[in-house]
Amino acid sequence: MTNRRLALALVLTPLVAFVPRTAAAQVADLIVTNARIYTVDENRPVVEAMAIRDGRVVATGPARGIMTMRGPATQVLDLHGRTVIPGMIDAHVHLLNLGNSLRNVDLVGTTSYDEVVARVAARARETPAGTWIQGRGWDQNDWGDTRFPTHEALSRAVPDHPVVLTRIDGHATLVNAAAMKAASLTSETRDPSGGRLERGAGGAPTGVLVDAAMGLVNRHVPPASKEQLKTAVQAAIAEMNRWGLTSVHDAGVGRAVIDVYEEVAREGRFDIRDYVMVANNDAAIDHYLQRGPQLGLYNGRLWIKAIKISADGALGSRGAALIEPYSDDPANTGLALVPAGRVRDVAVKALRSGFQVNVHAIGDRANRTVLNEFEQALTDVPVQDHRFRIEHAQIIHPDDVPRFAELGVIPSMQASHQTSDMYWAVNRLGPTRVLGAYAWRSLLNSGVVIANGSDLPVERTNPLISFMASVSRQDARGWPVGGWFPEQRMTREEALKSMTIWAAYSGFMEKEVGSLEPGKLADFVVLDQDIMRVPPELILNTSVLSTYLGGKAVFQKPVP
Ligand SMILES: [Zn+2]
Repeated sequence: MTNRRLALALVLTPLVAFVPRTAAAQVADLIVTNARIYTVDENRPVVEAMAIRDGRVVATGPARGIMTMRGPATQVLDLHGRTVIPGMIDAHVHLLNLGNSLRNVDLVGTTSYDEVVARVAARARETPAGTWIQGRGWDQNDWGDTRFPTHEALSRAVPDHPVVLTRIDGHATLVNAAAMKAASLTSETRDPSGGRLERGAGGAPTGVLVDAAMGLVNRHVPPASKEQLKTAVQAAIAEMNRWGLTSVHDAGVGRAVIDVYEEVAREGRFDIRDYVMVANNDAAIDHYLQRGPQLGLYNGRLWIKAIKISADGALGSRGAALIEPYSDDPANTGLALVPAGRVRDVAVKALRSGFQVNVHAIGDRANRTVLNEFEQALTDVPVQDHRFRIEHAQIIHPDDVPRFAELGVIPSMQASHQTSDMYWAVNRLGPTRVLGAYAWRSLLNSGVVIANGSDLPVERTNPLISFMASVSRQDARGWPVGGWFPEQRMTREEALKSMTIWAAYSGFMEKEVGSLEPGKLADFVVLDQDIMRVPPELILNTSVLSTYLGGKAVFQKPVP
């Protein structure tokens, strides 16, 4: 090494990873220090401090070096040794569904009918008379009296609002007198086919409607107004921020809802980065393909560059399309939800317009069909960097595992589905096929990355549930001991990448988010314990203390 190069090397080995040239830029807006920061940056995986300016990370490194960037107006966040990770990315959510479910009165865990009535009455007090009130989650099996409730107590407590309360399983509703009046339900009303009205004296409806009878009232519930949609969107975002999410990939969104997102984002009230997958609808697809890929609209809030298609159903209801029949239903191989060729046709159009195609495929037959149609489309329109995805990729025939890497297809998987499904998945699949289920290790070893997620609100919002499932393949109670097919586990480093940089990559956002390194957006989360080092069974005890989006706090845990 020449002297000059040695001198240069010394200059280039400062305490700070990266200091921009101009003097003005050396002053940070925010310094996070005295922390254990997992950067997900290969060059500096763990640092003590970072400096943020104009919403982006400008330097990471030891506190002593980073503090040289402190100016008179710099805010210093001393974390006293707490853990920081990049803002978490959930690669498969249904944002509006979460917002709608938050709007409902939550009746899960109620221990008596009186408690149900009290919760609905409390909501009615803050809701204009005449407005419909919806709730969900009651289960009379949890009450002292386990018979179906009748409407009278509810109707007395809430006389001026029509009320519809859905049972925990979604197969029955309890409605009040105002709702029955709106739907003209009387003792004369006949049971619809496939449904039943519970009845009391003289055949009068008691307020409980089973299965198809639920529609008699549900069809009178007015669709949400635009203001209600906007409120639901913001509630969902706040809820996701609370759990440390700063980016989500939103699976299958129609044009009307995307318009609402854009309006909220234009108003500066969309505090998450949403990578939108347009719903499989020709009018919507044509509209967005014509508009072209939209990257980081409204100050990095909306990306519209993908299309979502559903190729089959789900494993629990035996709708997932399998090559061989279900082990517990020998006449059934599941359901194909799109005609043959549909994925290929949409993929060809998408490739020509710079769009990604993300297809829901759960069963091994659906996965194979989608891989085949992706392959045909890529032969017709060869594009190197397409990043096509299969959403869920739950059951994969061993012959198809290497095809993901060969074709450049990303499996977008929800680790929490594995821990939710493991109790009955063997019954559905049998002892051989189950080895190709939720096969994270096999896929990683074949040379692909995995985008992790939750499918919220199908699963709960907390992304650490999937983090824990990824590394342990155990439920929250630690079952089964040693993990369910533990050879398919991820390491903690892989699990963290699957919900940060790999998820970012699967949405073409890896240059902006997914790690804390100079130049990237300062999206990060402060945790009260170190998820990379605590025993796996303690991971779910972790609390998010604060969530930052572009260097600004969008959630802070209230001090008790
Ligand atoms: Zn989904």
